[in-house]
Amino acid sequence: MEEKGATMATILDGKAHADRMLEEVRLQVEARLAKGLRAPALAVVLVGEDPASQVYVRNKGAACGRVGIRSLEFRLASDTPQAEVDGLIDRLNADPTVDGILVQLPLPKGLDAKRALHRISPAKDVDGFHPMNQGLLLEGLPGLRPCTPTACMSLLAHHGLALKGLRAVVLGRSEIVGKPMALMLLEQHATVTIAHSRTRDLPAVCREADLLVAAVGQPGLVEGSWVKPGAVVLDVGINRVVDLALGERIFAAEPRKLEVLRTKGAVLCGDVRFGEAMEVASAVTPVPGGVGPLTIAGLLLNTLTACEAQGR
Ligand code: NAD
Repeated sequence: MEEKGATMATILDGKAHADRMLEEVRLQVEARLAKGLRAPALAVVLVGEDPASQVYVRNKGAACGRVGIRSLEFRLASDTPQAEVDGLIDRLNADPTVDGILVQLPLPKGLDAKRALHRISPAKDVDGFHPMNQGLLLEGLPGLRPCTPTACMSLLAHHGLALKGLRAVVLGRSEIVGKPMALMLLEQHATVTIAHSRTRDLPAVCREADLLVAAVGQPGLVEGSWVKPGAVVLDVGINRVVDLALGERIFAAEPRKLEVLRTKGAVLCGDVRFGEAMEVASAVTPVPGGVGPLTIAGLLLNTLTACEAQGR
């Protein structure tokens, strides 16, 4: 952890923890190669031209290269029919040299994301989105688990946060982050509340949290006054803010972010007002540099796990 000053919270450095996780994967891949086994292989399917998805896929490819995982990219045009996407997934499922399959979301309009995700073999489902893997998580059994909450749990474990009996509030109930995060915290004996867009008096619910995990996709939704003094705050949201009036409201305690917004016309931020939270919490993840880098590390760990679990 990096100290920020006497009265401020600690910044939980996700980048540094991601580096630790990646180094662990790299060593395990190296050990496989030394035993004469092949490198794990991750197939990424990208349909269409979504600019954010292109960046994510590029970053995933670069991270694979860093740890010795073979990265295969399959790029399809945005007007690709569903049957063709299905056919590609079927071929990758059957290919013994592919250990993990990831379909980059969102898919272009007209394609059914759930159908694609459900078609991936559970053994190769490195995103942990297949109902089989979600069911295993629900039962507390081993399986491939969603990367973002897995990596968040790893960060919490690294920093030695005792979860047993802790009051945790997970803000957001998506299948990708909110629900699996809540299940993983429950598995570690936290007392978990899932809050969402219909929750009454959200600030009061959040203020009960010793651990607050925000995954809503609403820039600066969580104000400093919503944070219980001494709480640990994980900010999963990644939002691009271009509206100056919004920026002036949510970055009142973060002059540097406001300056970037003014000069560059856009700035990245989380769901939590970082500057305000830093004055109340005991530890906070920043955006960028918090949960984002951890997610890719979780994906590569899952790829290695999938490879070994398939006996390859
Ligand atoms: P989603 O859009 O699927 O779900 C959002 C959830 O937030 C919903 O359950 C909804 O009920 C809740 N919500 C929305 N508005 C709300 C409000 N005003 N008050 C209370 N609850 C509200 O989102 P997701 O896929 O879980 O992603 C959430 C955020 O996390 C996004 O910003 C996304 O970009 C980010 N994300 C980051 C990573 C990472 O690697 N750091 C990974 C996945 C998602």
